[in-house]
Amino acid sequence: MRERIGVPMASRPRAAPTGGRGTDVPAQEGFSQSPKSIQDGGEGSRMLQIEVNAETRSKLSSLYTELIRMARSCDSKLRVEVSFRTTSTHNGGQDVAGSRKRMGRSTSSKDLPPIQMPVKFKYGGRVYGDVDADCIVDLDSCLLKIGSVMTIPLRKGLCEALKEELSLSPPPLFKLLITADGELKLFARRSPPPWWVVVREECDDFKDVHLPIPIRVVGVSMNNRTGVAVVAFDVSDEGAKMIYLARWRPPGKPQALIEALRSYAEKPDSEKRERVLRLLPERLRERLRLGLTTVRARSLARKIERGYERKVVYWERRLVHQLRVMVREVKGRAVIAVDASGFEPSGETNSQGATLRIVRRIEVMAKYEGAYLRKTRVEGERCPLCGGLGVRYPQRGKGGRIRVYYGCGECYVYWDRDYGASFGAVLAVVPEAASQLRTWLRGHPLALARNLEIPSAAR
Ligand SMILES: [Zn+2]
Repeated sequence: MRERIGVPMASRPRAAPTGGRGTDVPAQEGFSQSPKSIQDGGEGSRMLQIEVNAETRSKLSSLYTELIRMARSCDSKLRVEVSFRTTSTHNGGQDVAGSRKRMGRSTSSKDLPPIQMPVKFKYGGRVYGDVDADCIVDLDSCLLKIGSVMTIPLRKGLCEALKEELSLSPPPLFKLLITADGELKLFARRSPPPWWVVVREECDDFKDVHLPIPIRVVGVSMNNRTGVAVVAFDVSDEGAKMIYLARWRPPGKPQALIEALRSYAEKPDSEKRERVLRLLPERLRERLRLGLTTVRARSLARKIERGYERKVVYWERRLVHQLRVMVREVKGRAVIAVDASGFEPSGETNSQGATLRIVRRIEVMAKYEGAYLRKTRVEGERCPLCGGLGVRYPQRGKGGRIRVYYGCGECYVYWDRDYGASFGAVLAVVPEAASQLRTWLRGHPLALARNLEIPSAAR
């Protein structure tokens, strides 16, 4: 039957590293293009973007160049640390451009490492962070001062978010990041003592650890065809209560349009042209009816693809934010169970790489918030109560999409494959809460089968 999970050796949560802070390359959630740089283990981290206008952005870009020059000539008017994108690339600053050139590769501003600067916060008459820092975030007046060089107004929403971060115990450590193309970010690292580690230290054998109830459990199931299904419960001795159930469908990739544009750009003919025009959104169709050159087609394909990538990143951030809110409501005293087994090669919404990237983002968030994350594999076709194989009920949903539901003739419960998998993930990871969760499901036999019309034969 289902894998009963104490916590096997291989997946024990690693303790936070001791010492050596500041020398390691921090995990950079949402910053690097490469998921490899989001490292396993170590601290949690998060990135807060500071929105600036085009004028400030170009000033920041010049400041970047100036600071790199200062850092290399050891003129430390402002304390500057040039961060390294990966530990293996030990050439900071503009040497990146030099080494790329030697390899015959061009360098765009995106390839250059950001500058890290120490930062302190002023809020309610107190100072937080690095007291010697030249960069000051004044939360009382919503201003960022980069030494005496620049003063940048901050959005109110960001100031409120920063006040919340500073109120965490322990508070995160911040660095101000300036990128070569003038983006400004606050990078926060945090490794609170996770509550399950406290529990572990009280037990000789971690396998026997019982997670304390009450507890919040969040089940996340990834499926590259249907999206990410999330369920969450508050479990106490009195029973379980569902607090969240939603499917997060990633933005669809306009693959057909991109391919049609590329193919037209490669070797244009009237048939391909008609296909492109048919696939284009209406507002672009009229504009391009006369002026669709191969150059334009190629650049449009690139633009559409980049736009799609941006949408995906935004979507991932919103998903992680939603999970963070649920974890933070209970001060990190939560377990996140992730089932990432729902990968189908013919999936249409995201690739396996994208699925893994989301899992890593959730991991980095969980470390930052002090929550317990555990990966597992669940067969969504099996009954969450008895583990028997469910009976399939395919149904045509909105937009003609076929959705497959399952039902169990023994237990009289119905479930959607993905919600069933999220629920099953929680059962597998938090056996301490399983009896309450099972009782809840028996009382709500249709709760995991949203929008299912029960076939009359099965009623
Ligand atoms: Zn059953």
